[in-house]
Amino acid sequence: MRKQIVAGNWKMNNGLAESKKLAKQVAKKVKKAKIKNANVIIAPTFVSLAGAVKATKKSKVKVAAQNMHFEENGAFTGEISAKMLKSVGVKTVILGHSERREYFGETDALLAKKVDAALANKMKVIFCFGEVLADRKSSNQEAVVENQIKNALFHLEASAFKNIVLAYEPVWAIGTGETASPEQAQDMHAFIRKTLADKYGDEVANSVSILYGGSCKPTNAKEIFSKPDVDGGLIGGAALNADDFFAIVNAF
Ligand code: PGA
Repeated sequence: MRKQIVAGNWKMNNGLAESKKLAKQVAKKVKKAKIKNANVIIAPTFVSLAGAVKATKKSKVKVAAQNMHFEENGAFTGEISAKMLKSVGVKTVILGHSERREYFGETDALLAKKVDAALANKMKVIFCFGEVLADRKSSNQEAVVENQIKNALFHLEASAFKNIVLAYEPVWAIGTGETASPEQAQDMHAFIRKTLADKYGDEVANSVSILYGGSCKPTNAKEIFSKPDVDGGLIGGAALNADDFFAIVNAF
């Protein structure tokens, strides 16, 4: 059985007080509902991580970072390392989000280093990738996604995939209100699983959770999550409201 996961990527939203409040609200709802089958993750900004860890302490909700640097420490002004994340109780990191790739120039080669650093520090990685609209229009989406996965992850041993969750996020669906159809999501997730199977075999491919991201909402989550190769979602906008986020958690 693959893990079902709903992760909320808060992006650059919420100060410390708002983050603690939202983290508490999510933790309370998850606890009250005794959610068993879904793993719930929230990813606030760096400055709110420690507060969110505290606020979710007595719940099953896990706290992730949205990014990290691959070096351990040193003269890298403005950066945060895996060890620093772990020092505040964060053991999961989102890497390769399309906004990191687009606005901060993160390449597959850089992401490979970040993935290595996270795994070397025994962290779990939510690795994001996805095609832009022009790729989809020219029917190149599979080639693009395959390359993103190969370039950043295929140097890893099969055992590393125990600590990796994949998040397919078509860039044209992020924050646009436009979602991939459940069929488009399923087709791509099946393709991703096949790409993994070709390299690492069925056992690895069938054990890795693949999340969908891109305008996932309470109104469409159920249908998307019902697809056989969709194991949950990475939620942006709708993760900023506890009721909406919880409705998506409940969509399994
Ligand atoms: P969205 O963002 O749900 O606001 O489209 C998803 C993401 O970027 O992870």
